[in-house]
Order: sequence, then C-alpha cells, then structure tokens
Amino acid sequence: MALRPDEFYDHAIASADGERRLSPARMTGWNISPFEQDGLRVAPLLPPVLPEPARHGEDPADCDSCRNRDEGIWLDDHWRLTRIARVGVPLVLMLHPRDHYDLDDLPDELAAELGRLTTHLARHIQALAHIGRAHVYRIGDGGAHLHVWFFARPEGQAQLYGSWMVVWDDLLPEYPADVADADAATVADALIASYGGWRP
Ligand SMILES: [Zn+2]
Repeated sequence: MALRPDEFYDHAIASADGERRLSPARMTGWNISPFEQDGLRVAPLLPPVLPEPARHGEDPADCDSCRNRDEGIWLDDHWRLTRIARVGVPLVLMLHPRDHYDLDDLPDELAAELGRLTTHLARHIQALAHIGRAHVYRIGDGGAHLHVWFFARPEGQAQLYGSWMVVWDDLLPEYPADVADADAATVADALIASYGGWRP
C-alpha cells in the first residue's frame, strides 16, 4: 500500500533543510538540465492538500473540451486533434476524445483506438523533416477530459532530449506559427491516409 499523504510528506521532508527545501540533485545534474546547479534552490515542500481541488471539467456541463468537440485540425467520429499555439518546440499536438472521458474510464473500444492513434501520430510526427522524436504525455492533473500531448523534439538539439524537454519548451522563444501550421497539416493528412478521419 502506498504511503498515506501525511506519511509521504514526512518521508520527503526528512530529507529537506530547515526551510523545507530539498537538494537540487539528480535531474539538475544531468547534462540536459536547463538549469545550472550553482545558485539554484528548490521551492519549499508544502504539506499535502486534501481533498484535492477539482480539476477543470469534472462536470461535463462545464467542460471546455466538450464545448469544443467539433474543433481541431483533424477529426473522426470519436477523436479530435488540436495544435497547441505559443510553444517553443516545433510542434505540440493534443489528442482528445470527442465525448467526455478520462483515461481510466475510456471504453475498451476507444482505448484500442487511442493505442492505434498514438502510434500513427508518433510515426507521422517523426516523419516530418528536422524532427528528432515525438514525445507522448498524459498527465491529467489540470483537466478532467482526457488530453494526450504529442511534443516534437527538434532534430539535433541534444539538450532537449528526455524529460526536461517540456521545461525547455517553456524557456524557448515562440516557434514560427506558420511553419507549425504547415507541419500540423502534414501530420493530419498523413493520419487521414493511414487511419481515417477528415480535416474540418
Ligand atoms: Zn469534457
């Protein structure tokens, strides 16, 4: 059984300093870290918040993703794909079920489609010129309606390898939107050819 919230906090705080700050060890020591360890300090570790606050769209009646169920750069009967604007990496796409599901309540038929769509999208993003790899994330702490992230890593930019890339994305200047729009359209067309669906 996992530690209770208070047990987890006590376990973590035992390694912190008198200001409840943990050491900036491990990931900040990697050569892909966007931060140098010298001068870096970790935010104080705060106690658990219980019960956890509601996420956006816990009630489908208030869910933006449900409201936007017909919007995207690609659609089929069950899924839609959007391009996230104002990012630093070459392309960030997001896959959403058109109906209100989270990952853990997705019906098996849609779960099977998600697996195929994830594979096809990764393949098509990685086929774009000058893209090194497609990273895939599902987190879900902010919104209750399932949304899966696809990040395109710029080829050869070796510091952007791995799990720090989303932080680098926030630090980088905004990527040219016209280039990203064209690449997103290429991915959508490739998905139509390999999987189905349409561009609205
Ligand atoms: Zn929804």
